[in-house]
Amino acid sequence: MPLLKALIQDQPLLISSLIQYSAQYHGEREIVTRTIDKNIHRITYSALYKRTQRLAHALESLGAEPGDRIGTIAWNSFRHLEVYYATSGIGCICHTVNPRLFTEQLIYIINHAEDKFLFIDSSFIELVEQLSPSLKGVKGVIVMCAKEEMFETTLDNIHCYETLIAGHEDHYAWPSFDENTASSLCYTSGTTGNPKGVLYSHRSTVLHSWCVSSVDTLGICNKDSLLVIVPMFHANAWGTPYAAPMSGAKMVFPGPHLDGESLVELIENEDITVSAAVPTVWLGILQYLKKTGKKLGTLERVAIGGTAAPPIMVRTLQEEYGVQVCHAWGMTEMSPLGTTGVLKKDSLSLPKEEQYKLQEKQGRGIYGVEMKIVDDNGLELPRDGVAFGNLMVRGPWIASRYFKDEGGEVLDPDGWFPTGDVATLDSEGYMQITDRAKDVIKSGGEWIGSIELENVAMEHEGVAECAVIGVFHPKWDERPLLVVVRESGSTVTPEELLKFFVGKVAKWWTPDDVVFVPELPHTPTGKVLKTKLRKEFSGHVLPTVS
Ligand code: AMP
Repeated sequence: MPLLKALIQDQPLLISSLIQYSAQYHGEREIVTRTIDKNIHRITYSALYKRTQRLAHALESLGAEPGDRIGTIAWNSFRHLEVYYATSGIGCICHTVNPRLFTEQLIYIINHAEDKFLFIDSSFIELVEQLSPSLKGVKGVIVMCAKEEMFETTLDNIHCYETLIAGHEDHYAWPSFDENTASSLCYTSGTTGNPKGVLYSHRSTVLHSWCVSSVDTLGICNKDSLLVIVPMFHANAWGTPYAAPMSGAKMVFPGPHLDGESLVELIENEDITVSAAVPTVWLGILQYLKKTGKKLGTLERVAIGGTAAPPIMVRTLQEEYGVQVCHAWGMTEMSPLGTTGVLKKDSLSLPKEEQYKLQEKQGRGIYGVEMKIVDDNGLELPRDGVAFGNLMVRGPWIASRYFKDEGGEVLDPDGWFPTGDVATLDSEGYMQITDRAKDVIKSGGEWIGSIELENVAMEHEGVAECAVIGVFHPKWDERPLLVVVRESGSTVTPEELLKFFVGKVAKWWTPDDVVFVPELPHTPTGKVLKTKLRKEFSGHVLPTVS
């Protein structure tokens, strides 16, 4: 029997429809930005939409053509949002560049993407001047500021954003095209090798936005005021700038000011109800709250991801500040959302402590992301919460290959993407990362997961931040070493910390030694740079080596 074709309109899912919708139905809702000079800027969705259309015309007048990559080096702001929508809307690709990368990586990424234009914040002019002689294809740089804010620069083909869009019409007829057209590009912050580009489509972005908005994930809705802390140059701020216009939620951009004081001030003043950020940002916020005795105003719920949310952080936010935590996991290659820690109905009737145990996990599977764990031979492992193996994912917002085919074929023959994470899956669908595959500590043929050990250490009041790495042991191959940044004023000793593990983890998992450091090295996206730590401590002699 031939399949019967449905009689439903074949409308492509396009990014332009998101901002168009919000302007039409939620035109009065605000988009608030703390600018680089710390002023507060306000604009409505409807005014922003007009400016986005002007920018679309301006881009065309500069010579931008469908398929061109347009780079941004910018903080979270209303202008950055306009660039997101204008570029993709006309069929170009918005390539967000992480300014925290090293110079060589920035040059590599911009040249690899073949960015034709760069939209930059004025604070990055010097950086771009420095990069400019090595940038092969960039035809012009647009500084995202007003005329009076322009700096003197040696750059050629420089434009002021406000001057550029000023003369253009505020109506643009967005073209319709295949929803599988590329819309944005993010490079992964690989700790080794060159970064690789993940090329999202209009379709994947719109589907992911629906997912981010759904109630069992971040549940972004019209009454929300969303503080977009995750940088727009890191996996598209976890998709929130695309999701919020779907419901006309108020959006608040903190610009470059990500310290505890600035963020708490925005939370208080802008009636923030929901937000998302990596643990280091929440740590800064919690330290500021502790120091000042302030509270978190109307904030109802937050997503924590990027690295494991320390259980003590989850508990403090929930119990002391009344903020519900959603532990989330994902990766640039997944747009990035993969799991969210919203508890299932049956889990809600569990005793509090058991609920906290579940919140330590990275969350449960969401519709749109298939997951499985496999052993090193690719054989599927049981979903029993005990077996752990390589986590594989599949779904309509997950990368199929990297831009320009870097790294070649990445999917297995059945279309599964290897995340590089090692995890357990339980019968209820909750997933728990034990480690990045390359960070797993191999001790006497068995695996020790560093995340669980870090979670325990973080519970100690003398620990501000920590990481567990494997170091050489002649008998066991590797044994765990706990590297700690002490809480200011703390005099905690290695012995006290090691004793703290007793009864909390299997005895043979307990680290062999503790070292104190003034700070930990981080990747540009806030993860502890374990490759660097392993190098630094490669010669460390453990006290257990006789
Ligand atoms: P990125 O592509 O830079 O966002 O990094 C993705 C990687 O970050 C994942 O593959 C994980 O290793 C790690 N990651 C993200 N979220 C979490 C989390 N909640 N817990 C532990 N690791 C995480």
